[in-house]
Amino acid sequence: MLIVMKFGGTSVGSAERISQVAQLATASAAPGHRVVVVTSAMSGVTNLLIEAAGGASRGRWDPQVRQQLFERHAAVAGAIVAETGRRSAVLEEIDRRLDRFEKLCFGLSMVHELTPRLLDAISGTGEMLAAPLVAAAVAARGTASSAVDATELIVTTDQFGGAEPIMDATRARTGARLQPLLARGEIPVVTGFIGATADGVLTTLGRGGSDYSASILGAALDADEIWIWTDVDGVMTANPADVPEARTLAEISYSEASELAYYGAKVLHYKTIVPAFRQRIPVRILNSFNPTHPGTRVSVEGDASALGVKAVTAIRGVSLIAISGTGMQGIVARAFDVVADQQSNVLMISQASSENNICFVISTVEAPRVVRALRTALEVDLARGHIEEIASQPVAVVAAVGDRMRGTPGIAATVFGALGHAGINVTAISQGSSERNISLVVDEADAAKAVRALHQAFRLDRAPQAI
Ligand code: ADP
Ligand code: ASP
Ligand code: MG
Repeated sequence: MLIVMKFGGTSVGSAERISQVAQLATASAAPGHRVVVVTSAMSGVTNLLIEAAGGASRGRWDPQVRQQLFERHAAVAGAIVAETGRRSAVLEEIDRRLDRFEKLCFGLSMVHELTPRLLDAISGTGEMLAAPLVAAAVAARGTASSAVDATELIVTTDQFGGAEPIMDATRARTGARLQPLLARGEIPVVTGFIGATADGVLTTLGRGGSDYSASILGAALDADEIWIWTDVDGVMTANPADVPEARTLAEISYSEASELAYYGAKVLHYKTIVPAFRQRIPVRILNSFNPTHPGTRVSVEGDASALGVKAVTAIRGVSLIAISGTGMQGIVARAFDVVADQQSNVLMISQASSENNICFVISTVEAPRVVRALRTALEVDLARGHIEEIASQPVAVVAAVGDRMRGTPGIAATVFGALGHAGINVTAISQGSSERNISLVVDEADAAKAVRALHQAFRLDRAPQAI
């Protein structure tokens, strides 16, 4: 069996955690399986890199950051690599990568212009620092291992900050580079999060994108399974940080996993499922802090016996854009052209049947730009009073998700009953025609309360009722 396994930031957050990763990878390979490890940056490192880039672009490059990063990674190398030769090779590698980082930041502090391309070059450094440490930890357990930069494997578009893989090229490069290592019984350790354009410019797949890397590599290698090792016992009925009584879902379908990830379950990057699904590769979500827990398995069927709502999610950091007026005929199409031009991703749309009001949800980061573009494009309609207002307001989207919500009566009533009872005002609602999801717009401050209310109303703390 070929397994591609990804470890998240907290799973590689310290020397102790990285030793545990090496133990899990070698133990998985022991029965004769081939294993590819994909690693995230150590926890907190990507944020630090992004902050450093922001500071440098404002002319404030702090050389302390390089030192701080060196010390954190060098301390791990010291703790996990006993053999002096390998340790100094790892330290040199880390130093070289930090040199590159420092030069980029220094240049940035001169030119003061942080382009998406430069931000990717800087923010992708964290995985490039972690991979040599993880490979050294695997080698220290007696299995040959080398760190491989995904820039050699994953060929992407040039959408910096959210690049998409070009699968044919990725498949060719990944096979050529990794299969010989696997054939020799090595465990390659690949950097998550990053790729490169066909001409070699570093790109990132978006925040949290190492999950996506694992799925892309799993598909490129025709892996038998993709394992996502994280810090919770799999995909749960809600974020356990919001709902302490949330329960692990033992089995979910690809569509449920996708829907949950898309609607805010950070445990999976929202694009992760796509490459795995295309090839029907089973995905497991496992806890590196509790490795004997079976976690969640994502498969075609999911758990066909569980009815109704399976899980509740929340997306924060989004804004509701509302366009209202009495002469709105024909406005909808034009408004969405503007949104598409701005390359903004719409998470949810809702329209009153009178056509007097159309509202949609986008990321808060994009909201000011989209509102400006809408006001410009619809200037005449605003001046003539056909449109009264184009407003933007920070909100949260709460979603109830489950394959078998379809045909289960009374779900909407339970949702509204629960929110009403909890005193939560719902600004807009939307239900996809797949009936796999009901999403609601609520005040940002009410998000956790709404998730708890729905979790309780659907009794998700209890094992599902069989039919
Ligand atoms: P990693 O660093 O391993 O990629 P993340 O922080 O990206 O980990 O994702 C794991 C976190 O996702 C969990 O700690 C949990 O707080 C959050 N989370 C949100 N929704 C869910 C859910 N439905 N099930 C499990 N975890 C969830
Ligand atoms: N290190 C990257 C991030 O923090 C990617 C990941 O962890 O998945 O966004
Ligand atoms: Mg993650």
